Amino acid sequence: MTAVHVPGTPIIEDGRLVSTSPATGAEAGRLPVATAADVRDAVEQARAAGQWWAGLGFTGRRQRLLRWRGVLAGRIEELAELVHAEGGKPVADAVVEILTALEHIDWAARNARRVLGPRRVRTRLILAEFTGHLEYQPYGVVGVIGPWNYPVFTPIGSAAYALAAGNAVVFKPSEYTPAVGQWLVDRFAEVVPEQPVLTAVHGLGEVGAALCRAGVGKLAFTGSTATAKKVMAACAETLTPVLLEAGGKDAMVVDADADLDAAAEACVWGALTNAGQTCIGIERVYAVDPVYDAFLDKLVAKAGRLTVGPEGADIGPITMPAQLDIIRRHIDDAVARGGRAVLGGPEAVRPPYVHPTVLVDVPEDSAAVREETFGPTLTVNRVRDVDEAVARANALSYGLGGSVFGRKRAVAVARRLRSGMAAINSTLTFAGMSTLPFGGVGDSGFGRIHGEDGLREFGRAKAITRRRGPSLLPSMTFERTPADVARLVKVAKLRYGRGR
Ligand code: NDP
Repeated sequence: MTAVHVPGTPIIEDGRLVSTSPATGAEAGRLPVATAADVRDAVEQARAAGQWWAGLGFTGRRQRLLRWRGVLAGRIEELAELVHAEGGKPVADAVVEILTALEHIDWAARNARRVLGPRRVRTRLILAEFTGHLEYQPYGVVGVIGPWNYPVFTPIGSAAYALAAGNAVVFKPSEYTPAVGQWLVDRFAEVVPEQPVLTAVHGLGEVGAALCRAGVGKLAFTGSTATAKKVMAACAETLTPVLLEAGGKDAMVVDADADLDAAAEACVWGALTNAGQTCIGIERVYAVDPVYDAFLDKLVAKAGRLTVGPEGADIGPITMPAQLDIIRRHIDDAVARGGRAVLGGPEAVRPPYVHPTVLVDVPEDSAAVREETFGPTLTVNRVRDVDEAVARANALSYGLGGSVFGRKRAVAVARRLRSGMAAINSTLTFAGMSTLPFGGVGDSGFGRIHGEDGLREFGRAKAITRRRGPSLLPSMTFERTPADVARLVKVAKLRYGRGR
């Protein structure tokens, strides 16, 4: 018999992790919970599988990865329905998420050889009698721990790149979305049936903790900043390198010369897509005084038109029921401290939904401005000029993404945002561009997924020198003579002695 529980909160029943829809409570997945020993076994099996996978070479892996991409694309509606059923995400948002993930698999598969493969590097006058060679070798097994909010895009952002680099992957999906994680792994096994190259281990946080300690070569984590610290501490015990994609509190700056209709449209989407449960979601807006009122009117009009509900609506339920209390606390606190809700407000929290909420005049030191809300809410504050906007945007320890609307100063402002990414005259677009690295600074983590940097995260640089002729000027040998050393001194002065 199914225990009574809050819809959407996963439960463990008879050793199985059961995920349910946050909208209806209907069961979405039922998967075996892994013990610490199971996790270690999975990593050991993946180690052997990784050797086999690495042996396929870039061409063999590319073929398999492109086939995986093909299978996922062919069944995109089915996967979108599963994402919807398990996490509550509107199907249209799930389709956009999956499409973005497909693009990343495609790019990683096609570019791994160019970015990571063996190449000669240029040599210089010093040690010119040697050639230099560089390649990026796989870590063996990469552990991937993922969150629930983008259960396809986020793990694939690490896993596809790790696989393309020649690693096996052991994946721990969020306890809220294990069925989606297992589905991705099962489709991979259809195109790579020989070895467990991509596997999943399921359970609560302790299974993630076990993965950190199971002997993986690198651990790629996406989730909250608090958990990122625990992951890093666990990995520190064995000096296991980590890549941390953590939370954010991204800001949008609206300058005086911005296209306000476009800014309002992009802001509504950037802040409210996936019910605001987006690490790079816009949670704060700083609009300069001359355009503040006009921008706010347009924003509220557009946000107010969005529909909220289980099927076919723009905004679905809050996936993690416990998050509702945080969203409520942020709205209540903002209002109690002098902020005003110009759309939504405290009554917008109607579990499992939260209706779009726009808060203005919220003090900069309040929770709604400083902490990750992860709901369909945003604060819009008035600033004198873009300098003040940048100063406020940069005042938090988070630094994931950001957005700038404007013309003349937009590029300069984007550069000045203390973040790993910024979008000019759009929001969130950097996440879908496979050629660009994705990651944060400060409390938002470190390391990069996506793009060339993302591929390099999953390979160890291996440097090789090879002699191609005798040394005219012997230096790295005890056979050198005093005359050789005198010549070395001369070369040092000639080559490096000038101040330019
Ligand atoms: P959590 O940090 O709660 O969980 C992330 C993953 O870590 C889950 O699989 C979780 O398992 C697991 N986990 C929990 N405890 C431990 C532990 N002690 N050791 C190892 N793993 C553990 O994050 P959420 O799932 O709530 O995701 C939302 C957060 O993710 C937000 O802060 C969001 O900003 C961030 N995020 C960042 C992105 C980025 O690229 N920078 C992208 C998407 C989201 P379980 O679920 O079973 O507890």
